[in-house]
Amino acid sequence: MDLKDLYRDVILDHNRHPRNFGRLSEENRVAEGHNPLCGDRLTVSLRLDGERIADIRFEGKGCAISTASASLMTEAVKGKPRAEVQTLFQQVHALLTGGAAADAALGKLAALSGVREFPARVKCASLCWHTLNAALERGAAATVSTE
Ligand code: ZN
Repeated sequence: MDLKDLYRDVILDHNRHPRNFGRLSEENRVAEGHNPLCGDRLTVSLRLDGERIADIRFEGKGCAISTASASLMTEAVKGKPRAEVQTLFQQVHALLTGGAAADAALGKLAALSGVREFPARVKCASLCWHTLNAALERGAAATVSTE
């Protein structure tokens, strides 16, 4: 199995069985994200404990890429401090938009690297990250659109 097949399998698996799907009952941050180009909509709710993301969930409806990306993101950021999440966000963004090679630090998020061959889908993959960012920076009830 080459790397491309492996990446595709990760995306398919996270689309079929999204991790951390639903809404947190004890959230203190929430944001909604919308990607009008594709029609993806998702809500990211999280509980920030000091500077650390203690728990996170997402829900919504979107294409396979947006759902898999959100699922992978929740796994990657859960339990992490904000500063580390910001670094991850920048690494994922670089991975999606060009140049950067998949870094070992990205773990399963590296599966998103195939998306950059389809520029129209980059917004699908990055929607959850922009939504998370809005929840962290603007707090209570933020809304973000990719357009
Ligand atoms: Zn999409």
